[in-house]
Amino acid sequence: MADKTSASQTEGAKSNAKNETKNEATSEAKATREEKLVQDVADLDDYARWYQDVVYKADMADLSPVRGCMVIRPYGYALWENMQRQLDDRIKATGHENLYFPLFIPYSFLMKEAEHVEGFAPEVALVTRAGGEELEDPLVVRPTSETVIGYMYAQWVHSYRDLPLLYNQWANVVRWEKRTRPFLRTSEFLWQEGHTVHRTEQEAEDETLLILNAVYQDFVEKELAIPVIPGRKSESEKFAGALRTYSIEAMMGDGKALQAATSHNLGQNFARSFGIEFQDADGQVKTAWTTSWGASTRLVGALIMAHGDANGLRMPPRVAPTQAIIVPIWRKDEEREAVAKLVSEVEAALRTAGVRVKADWREERPGWKYNEWELRGVPVRIEIGPRDAANGQVMLVPRTDRSAKEAVAARAVAERVPALLEEIQRALYEQALAFRLSRTYQAADYDQFRALFADRSKQGFVEAWWCGDAACEAQVKAETQATIRNLPLDHPEKPADAICVHCGRPASDWAIFARAY
Ligand SMILES: [Zn+2]
Repeated sequence: MADKTSASQTEGAKSNAKNETKNEATSEAKATREEKLVQDVADLDDYARWYQDVVYKADMADLSPVRGCMVIRPYGYALWENMQRQLDDRIKATGHENLYFPLFIPYSFLMKEAEHVEGFAPEVALVTRAGGEELEDPLVVRPTSETVIGYMYAQWVHSYRDLPLLYNQWANVVRWEKRTRPFLRTSEFLWQEGHTVHRTEQEAEDETLLILNAVYQDFVEKELAIPVIPGRKSESEKFAGALRTYSIEAMMGDGKALQAATSHNLGQNFARSFGIEFQDADGQVKTAWTTSWGASTRLVGALIMAHGDANGLRMPPRVAPTQAIIVPIWRKDEEREAVAKLVSEVEAALRTAGVRVKADWREERPGWKYNEWELRGVPVRIEIGPRDAANGQVMLVPRTDRSAKEAVAARAVAERVPALLEEIQRALYEQALAFRLSRTYQAADYDQFRALFADRSKQGFVEAWWCGDAACEAQVKAETQATIRNLPLDHPEKPADAICVHCGRPASDWAIFARAY
C-alpha cells in the first residue's frame, strides 16, 4: 500500500507545474503518467487487488493506525452521506423515528440472551478499566444494540396503546474482526439499526418484510442500481437470537455474493430476556414481539464491486458525490477566457437544475483528468474547448460508454444532463442485472453443482432444492466454500418429488448457493 495515488499525484503535479509542453520528452513523460493512473489499478482478474486499488486510489478510504479500522476520506464519506440521506428518507416515510443510544453496553446485558451472547462474544471489545479504575461491571463497545435497547423499551412499554414502537438509530458499532477489508469488513463500521416493538407476531413479521422490501430492496435497487434477491436466511445463517432473518443478496463483479442488508424478526426472545411486556386490550399482560434491521457502510463496498470496471469506479448518479465533471480544454491564454466563460455558464445552469457539478481547473493535461475522473466514477464528463466555446456547445461523455460521446448546445445542457444521468442510472442497473442472470445457474445434481463452483472464471449463483438440514448445508460449504445466501421469497413451486441437490433427501426449500463476502 506504499505506492498510493495521492503520493504519485503530488509528484506529478509538481513536475507538471515546472514545465509547459516545451519538448517531446516532457509530453512523452506526461503521456506515460496518464496511462499510469489507470495501469495502477490492478487487472480485474486480480479482483481483490483491483478492489483495494480502487478504494485507495479513488480516495474513498485510507488505512488507519488501528488495525482493521478504516479512515473514510471525503469522497467516500460524501457517497455515504448521500446513501444515508436516501435510506433515512425511506425509514421515516415508513413511520419510523430516529433516536440515539450510548456506545457502551453493560457486559451483563449481553449475557441475558443466550444465543446472542454466543454469537457475539468472540468479537466483542470490552472496556474493563476507565477513569483510572477497574470497572465493577465491564462495558462492551456495542457490536449491535438489541440488549440496551431492549432494557429501555421494557421501561417505555406498558400498554398495548404504547405499541408499536418504531425507532431507528444511526451509529457506529465495533466487531473485532480477524480478517478485514475496507468497507466490506472492518472492526468499526457505520450503520443504521432499527428496533421495533409490536403487539402480535404477525405485526412483527409484517414490519420485518416491510423493511426488507419497501426500505432496503427499494433503496438498493433504485438508488444504488444494484439488483438484489430478497429471501430468508437458513437457520445456521440467521442473526444470533432471531426467530427469522431475511436478507437482500447482490452479485458482485467476480460472481461472489454480498449480503447488502438484513431484517430480523426477533420473535419474543429479546422481549422475554428484557421483560418487554404490555397489558393488552383484554386486560392480560403479554410479552411483546420485536424486530431489528440494519444496513451499513458495507453498501459502499457493494456499490464499488457491483459497478466498477477496468478503469475504476462507476458511481450510480443518484448517489454520486459529483454527478458531472467539467473539464476545460485550452492551449493558449487567449483561448482560456472564452472557455472559462462557457464553463461558468454551464456550471451555473447545471447547479440550478439540481446537478452536483464541478469544474476541474487544475494545471493538468485533459487526458490525465479524464482518467482520474473515470477512476473516481463520475457519471458524466463535460468537455469544453475553444471550438465548443465558439459554437456554444459542449461534449458530454457518459462514464458507462465513452463511445456515446455527444455534442449538446450549451443552452440545452440543463435539460440534457439530468436526462443523461437517469439513462446512466438505468444502464448500470440493467448491466448489473444482465451480469447476474448470465452468472446464475441451476444444478440438477451434485456433480453439476460442484462443476459450477470449480470454474472460478464462471463463478456465480447456483439455484437448487435443499433439504433444510444444517449438517447438509455445512457439508456443501466444506466441499465447495459455497453457502446458502438465502431462500428466495420468489421461488418456483416445489414439485412433489423435489430432492436436495446434495443429499438427495426430500427438499424443503429453493436455495441460492454462492461464495460470499
Ligand atoms: Zn440435503
